[in-house]
Amino acid sequence: MELINLMDSCIFCAIIEGDIPSHSVYEDETTLAFLDINPISVGHTLIIPKYHSSKINQLPISFATSLMQTVHTLTGPIEKAVGANATTIAFNNGSEAGQEVPHVHCHIIPRFEQDGGKSVHSLVESPSHPPLDFSDIVMSIKNLI
Ligand code: AMP
Ligand code: ZN
Repeated sequence: MELINLMDSCIFCAIIEGDIPSHSVYEDETTLAFLDINPISVGHTLIIPKYHSSKINQLPISFATSLMQTVHTLTGPIEKAVGANATTIAFNNGSEAGQEVPHVHCHIIPRFEQDGGKSVHSLVESPSHPPLDFSDIVMSIKNLI
């Protein structure tokens, strides 16, 4: 497949192009996976689409689908390779969510019993509780799909 929609100023597009080196663990037509340069744990891997888009909701569905296929393919081997029984699999989707590199990437982070980490509920220190009940939120979301 021809590489489409890559961006000159993007560090992850440069990795796709081979202009910046990476510790690649997997590659196919539409995705690339490589070790995070600043790992939270051993085996911390990033999976990216070969398409520049900052957020998953702006990514063409075909790339989003193949990204998830690669997550599925790699999670077991990553866990096994580092002797982990669990992984945190996460997207920081937008700068307010902590995204620093504005090219969609999925973190696969091996987790260990003694690592002191917590679940995703620990990510937000000041949860917002707007005056909406669950049924209002359900309706709002459904009306926008
Ligand atoms: P995020 O905060 O979700 O945008 O995470 C970006 C991740 O990219 C961080 O975990 C960085 O350590 C990682 N990163 C940045 N530059 C590189 C690079 N050249 N090679 C591998 N990982 C990188
Ligand atoms: Zn990019």
